[in-house]
Order: sequence, then C-alpha cells, then structure tokens
Amino acid sequence: MAKNGGKNANRITLKVAETNPKFVGRGMALVDPRIMEELNLSAGDVLEINFKGKKSYALLWSSQREDYDKKLIRIDGYTRNNIGVGIDDSVIVQKVNVKKAEQVILAPTEELNIVGLEEHLPELLEGRVVGKGDVIPLNIMGRRIGFAVTGTSPSDVASLIDSNTEFVIGSVPKSAGKGVSRVAYEDIGGLKNEVQKVREMIELPLRHPEIFERIGIEAPKGILLHGPPGTGKTLLAKAVANETNANFYSIGGPEIMSKFYGESEERLREIFREAEENAPSIIFIDEIDSIAPKREEVSGDVEKRVVSQLLTLMDGIKSRGKLVVIGATNRPNAIDPALRRPGRFDREIEIGIPDEQGRLDILMIHTRGMPLTQDVDLASIAKVTHGFVGADLEALSKEAAMRSLRRILPEINLEQPNIPAEILNKIKVTKQDFDEALRD
Ligand code: ADP
Repeated sequence: MAKNGGKNANRITLKVAETNPKFVGRGMALVDPRIMEELNLSAGDVLEINFKGKKSYALLWSSQREDYDKKLIRIDGYTRNNIGVGIDDSVIVQKVNVKKAEQVILAPTEELNIVGLEEHLPELLEGRVVGKGDVIPLNIMGRRIGFAVTGTSPSDVASLIDSNTEFVIGSVPKSAGKGVSRVAYEDIGGLKNEVQKVREMIELPLRHPEIFERIGIEAPKGILLHGPPGTGKTLLAKAVANETNANFYSIGGPEIMSKFYGESEERLREIFREAEENAPSIIFIDEIDSIAPKREEVSGDVEKRVVSQLLTLMDGIKSRGKLVVIGATNRPNAIDPALRRPGRFDREIEIGIPDEQGRLDILMIHTRGMPLTQDVDLASIAKVTHGFVGADLEALSKEAAMRSLRRILPEINLEQPNIPAEILNKIKVTKQDFDEALRD
C-alpha cells in the first residue's frame, strides 16, 4: 500500500534538501518520480510548498536516482528563504492551479541603473511561477540580483509569467540590503565536506538546541576556518547564517583595532552583546590573527587587551549553540593558543585551494545565468586554472563577461546610470572572452 507521510489525497510531507547548483534560480523542485506517480503529478506541474503556513511555488521536476525513496524535495536557497525553511525541515507539498499573471510588481533588492528593464523581464522570466512575497534572482550583466515580488494580479494565487505579463518595477524595499546578502549552500563550490562539517557544528545546535541539551553534549561556541584568502571562508559563514535565519555580525580583524584606549574592546563587547540579544546569531571575525596574535609575540598593548577581551567574551557566552563565533584566518598558528582551548575556538576546519573538480563547480556557479556560447568549455578552463581560488575564478568569469559587454558597447561606462536594457539580450560570453581574460 502506498504511504506518503502526512497523507491527504494529493498532499505529501517531504524533507527539504539543497538542489543541484545548475538548477539554482529557476524556481524548480526536484522530487522522486515514484512519488510523482503516486500523487498523479507530472513534470512541469506547479507545486505549492508550505512551511508553517508560509507558501511558495515551484515547478516540479524528477529527481535523480540517488534520491529515490528518501522522500526529499530539492529546492534552491531562494525558495528555501522565501518560506524560511532550512535543509532537513519538513514541508507540505501539493499541486496547485496557476493563473496567468496579468501584472507582476517587482522591486529590486538593491539599487539598479537599468532603463527599460520592464520590457525585457518577460523574456527573462517567462515560464516562472511566482507568488507575492517571493524573492527571485535575475542575472543581469553577470550580476545576480534578487527581486522581491511585491504584488501580482490576480492576487493571492500562484501566478504564471508569460510573454504578455506586464511588469512594474517597484521601489527597493526598505529591508533590502541589510544583513546578509542571500548566500545559499549552492553558491559554494568544491567544499562539500567542509559545508557538511560546518552544518553539523553550527546548524544543528542553532536550530535544535534541545537535542544538545538532552544528550548532554555541548554545542561549539567557536569555530576556526583556516585557509588561503579567497577560498570561501566568508562565503561559508554567510551561507550558514542565511540558511539558519541567524543574524550575521561581521568583524573585520584589522578594522576593529583602534589606537584609542579601550575603544576596540568596547566595540567587541557591543557586538557580542547585540548578537546575544538577537540570538540566534553568528559572529564572523575575519583575519582573526590580526586581532588575536600570540600575546608573547606582540609588543602592542592594544593587541594584548583585545585578545583578553575576546577570551572573556567567548567564556561568557551563555546562549550556547545560539551564538556561534566563526574566526577566519590564513595563519592558524599565528593566533594566540589560548583562543584555541576547549570552550573557545575548539573546532577547526581547513578550507583549501580547490582541485580541478572544485574549480569546475565554482566556475559553474559564477557563470550561472551568463549567456555562454557553445564553444565555452568550463571543464577545460577548470583544467588550466591550477592554483586559482574561488575569488580568482569569480574574477575570471566577471572579466570574461565584461569583455563581451565591451564588444557590444565599446563606449560603455558602467559608472554611468541608465544602461539600456536592450544590451542585455545581445550579450554572449564566448570562449575568446575567457581566453583573453585568462591571458591578462
Ligand atoms: P575568504 O573569506 O576565504 O577570503 P571569500 O569567501 O571572501 O574568501 O571569497 C570571496 C569571493 O570569491 C566570494 O564572495 C565568492 O564570490 C568567491 N568564492 C570564493 N570561494 C568560493 C567557492 N568555494 N565557491 C564559490 N565562490 C567562491
């Protein structure tokens, strides 16, 4: 007999998983085809995904064989964010009817200087299903920008965008731009094991402190990410904060150092106080070696005081599991060993330089949504970019996109406001653009 969890004719409870990076931003949900059959669903149907009353929509697609019988639904970070659901949470899924969207009001979540965008949106969004309150990503000139759906007509239904949908660009919502930009796990390439470790150490205690209390183990307070610059340490910390709906506080090591007596310590105390008040929170300390070097090696008084302040603050964290401090450094051995004792930064994860497969994953992420010509072979670019870290591969992809842009508009001045939207459609990034970008 067919069983399907919280069963109700055509509803089913499924467990959320991250999606394949190549599906990010397309508003799709991957589900076991046998579940689809059981519920009489077919590819392309529109699903309503409900998490604790919050709803979003996605187009149904069959999952890969390795997902079979796991009762999973794979959705991207945008869809997860729209309903505030985390990986491993359960959602209720059912097929819904869609109405053709007559009008959709979209508000970019950051300032944009493109004119006539409304006319080009149907091409970019045709076939998408949206609902009010969703944030959907659009790739505009190599940049991914979130657009909030602030209204649809008809309202309160899943709205299917077609070539006749009229678009209105609303104003940037006030809440936009604050906090973490929407980084999801799918935005991190080549660090599968590292992401998994971070999730176990941070996400589990942050989301389910009761488990840790019950089994009597202590959730970590501090985690040290170490590895070369540009490998994704900051990205990873932001992704965890975002995926767990935790507040993100970022401290740039060198910036906090003040020559005024007591100021650096006061700033640290303030951030910790605020983070604790607004828990769950993640405090990210970049270049932690610069604020907490070995005390016997520093001559400066500020460093000594800042290290001891940080130690005191770490020891004073009460909301275990709900406040996690992530330190990032390129030189783990340069930091004060007292910081690495139990109860402080007692977990360490190495974030290394990506290998060829990792580089390919990262290139796929940063060219996602770029109109590439057929001759662009990301695998061979991954092969010849030995030693490139994520930030280098991102810069390479951007540079290639810029070259394609300059071909269309030799005189383009990106500083200048009001870039005509027509050019968006002409841009094609070619193998030659990549070759030239690599040569520089
Ligand atoms: P770190 O904190 O290790 O110095 P960042 O996380 O700040 O590095 O990386 C800078 C940028 O480079 C990121 O915003 C991202 O665009 C890109 N990047 C770095 N590592 C990766 C990765 N593993 N996958 C995808 N993009 C990456």
